[in-house]
Amino acid sequence: MGKILVIGGGAAGMMAAVFAARNGQKVCLFEKNEKLGKKLFITGKGRCNLTNACDMEELLDAVVTNRKFLYSSFYGFTNEETMEFFEELGLKMKTERGNRVFPVSDHSSDVIKVLQDELRKLNVKLCLKTEVARVEEKDGHFFGVQLKDGTTVQGDACIIATGGNSYQTTGSTGDGYRFARELGHTVTEIAPALVPLEIRERYGKDLQGLSLRNVEAAVLDGEKELYRDFGEMLFTHYGVSGPLILSASSYIGKRLRERPLKLVIDLKPALSFEQMDARILRDFEENKNRQFKNSLGKLFPSKLILVMISLSGICPDKKVNEISKEERQRFAALIKGFTMTITKTRDFNEAIITQGGVSVKEINPATMESKKVKGVYFAGEVLDLDAVTGGFNLQIAWSTGNAAGSCAADDEI
Ligand code: FAD
Repeated sequence: MGKILVIGGGAAGMMAAVFAARNGQKVCLFEKNEKLGKKLFITGKGRCNLTNACDMEELLDAVVTNRKFLYSSFYGFTNEETMEFFEELGLKMKTERGNRVFPVSDHSSDVIKVLQDELRKLNVKLCLKTEVARVEEKDGHFFGVQLKDGTTVQGDACIIATGGNSYQTTGSTGDGYRFARELGHTVTEIAPALVPLEIRERYGKDLQGLSLRNVEAAVLDGEKELYRDFGEMLFTHYGVSGPLILSASSYIGKRLRERPLKLVIDLKPALSFEQMDARILRDFEENKNRQFKNSLGKLFPSKLILVMISLSGICPDKKVNEISKEERQRFAALIKGFTMTITKTRDFNEAIITQGGVSVKEINPATMESKKVKGVYFAGEVLDLDAVTGGFNLQIAWSTGNAAGSCAADDEI
């Protein structure tokens, strides 16, 4: 029987430990927090969107970085198998809008509980409040881990599942990147992703708290379109947030670090420009003798009216029947292209995920084993992998955790 050391008691580490132990190995899991799954606990606003019940193609399409690398581990442990796994552990699940899968109880703690129970049943040694300081190798083979108190624990294989660098209070402080570098691995530049965006224009503040549904957002770098999608967004005191914006952040981060980008919101994407113009004309006809500022109640929520008026260049007191065709068409264009300047993303403390990490070029995609040090495996967010929201990031943790745990165990038998 071999001894497998797992570093990190998050989603990936727990999954890896379960499968290493099920394959007959002695497993020791090190977690620096006083309990397992601190980040899992806060996922899905405390409800844990643990996977997505879509087909395989969609699952792969949801991956933003290094999709191809995940073929093997996703097919090795699919979203269906993930649901079966949790079902067998006694977790009841439900599928909501967008195929998002949650526990029926709506409590992330139930996901953690079934994993923890399974680890105990399998006699995995849980070393809580135990921080790993170093991962040691000898002649290209894993040797042992050095704990913060200086002791070294030897093992036959090690799985590094220390997570990313976001929401550091959950314990994910990027230690795994250092371990990887010390073992000779390349770590790609890390950055916050699935994160709100800051905008330069001052009206962000006036719009604070305003939520817009069914809008279309496009992000442009000069003429080049980096992102376009429909959905819901929210204005905050520093800029913009909400599902549509968080998703956009994952596709634009790199470019945004070089220069500001344009965010163009189509407030009425269901209408063509001509239909929009006709719609305004109709509203204007109904309000012929009113002032411009009092004619827009049907078009926008009240918070937006003042901002749109000031951007329109039309005098707010002007009578609607005095507004020229050109002014009206400019206004229609403004509604179809409400433009802001994105200056940067918010920082890691507000990022759902870390983009970048241990370069997957140096990892075997079928086993998650390091190509540099035999017996060292990586799983979860520490790797240079990330996906959009919807349960996909946890699926990455489950699938890579499963591969690392099963293969580390296979190697040692
Ligand atoms: P983590 O879950 O970060 O686990 C890493 C563990 O390693 C931590 O417990 C940490 O304490 C431990 N550790 C680190 N360094 C050491 C060390 N040196 N020694 C010992 N232990 C160490 N994804 C979804 O799919 N669905 C969601 O609903 C969802 N909601 C989210 C909501 C929020 C607010 C956030 C921040 C993220 C959310 N995510 C969601 C993303 C998801 O949480 C992560 O993708 C996932 O937790 C990554 O799992 P992991 O095991 O790789 O890392």
